[in-house]
Amino acid sequence: MVPPKQSNTIDFDAAKLQRLGYASRTQPTLKPVSLAQLRQQLGMQLQTSLEVDRILDLFFREVQRLVPLGALSYQLASCDLRLELGERANHSAGYRLSHEGEYLGELIFRRSLRFSDDELGQLESLLASLLFPLRNALLYRAALQSALRDPLTDTGNRIAMNQAMLREVELARRNSQPLSVLMLDIDHFKQINDQHGHITGDEVLKAMAGALKNSLRNIDMIFRYGGEEFLVLLSNTNREAAQMVGERLRLAVLGLQHVVDNRAIELSISLGCATMLAGESVDSLQRRADNALYVSKREGRNRLSMAG
Ligand code: GH3
Ligand code: MG
Ligand code: MG
Repeated sequence: MVPPKQSNTIDFDAAKLQRLGYASRTQPTLKPVSLAQLRQQLGMQLQTSLEVDRILDLFFREVQRLVPLGALSYQLASCDLRLELGERANHSAGYRLSHEGEYLGELIFRRSLRFSDDELGQLESLLASLLFPLRNALLYRAALQSALRDPLTDTGNRIAMNQAMLREVELARRNSQPLSVLMLDIDHFKQINDQHGHITGDEVLKAMAGALKNSLRNIDMIFRYGGEEFLVLLSNTNREAAQMVGERLRLAVLGLQHVVDNRAIELSISLGCATMLAGESVDSLQRRADNALYVSKREGRNRLSMAG
């Protein structure tokens, strides 16, 4: 049996054996009947949701019908997932979850009372019911996330942009915080395609999106608005700060050395910046940034214009 504060791997194949009842022969449990009942119920209940939070919340609540717990924490760094349920306590039992060699995260049970060997056996047995629903929920989450990304540039797509704009405008209004938007467009991009072909054009787009992302803070959001146009959403950022960010982006693209046939392609962007006015709508804010971008184009490109 496994002592607390030790991490273990739960493998799906082993879990399957446990579900078929083989494990219960080798693992003595205090309440075999209720364990079997709970496993059966968990098996059904956990399949009613595809949300990781909801599945773990259900699991945490249901498991306590058999084994009292203080807290449950779950972490999967590769998916930026971290969840804490209940109150932290001294004693812990941690498990690395995996399914057919695929890592599904680390789960830690905690409470103030030491776990007995029987209880650990029960927890491990119940974990088997979690693996399949958890894996499905993680797959679903990944699919949802990719539906919001532009695959070429790995920036947010139009759907993500519309959602974020609505949310950020509402938040800025409610919290009386500034919100700024940058619209940017690559200068003479058609020439790059015409001279070097679309594949090189795509590579340039990708490299440019990378340079833009590197010049932004983690909390700034960047979306591919259209072909070679991007929108940057700067929360809690006033006009002056947004102007500085815009200039930084312009210089980052100017300094980008994209070499094709031993020659660096000259790249620049034009930008328009607008800061939300009191009571302003999403459409109006976006339109003002777009108009400012056209001013930059008209006045010679490779520049930033501020909306009035
Ligand atoms: P301007 O300085 O006025 O913005 O000139 P431009 O040539 O960049 O502007 P225009 O809007 O006339 O052309 C944009 C071009 O971007 C047209 C299209 O061929 C190209 N483009 C749009 N999306 C993609 C894409 O995904 N890949 C590639 N390779 N090219 C694209
Ligand atoms: Mg362009
Ligand atoms: Mg364009």
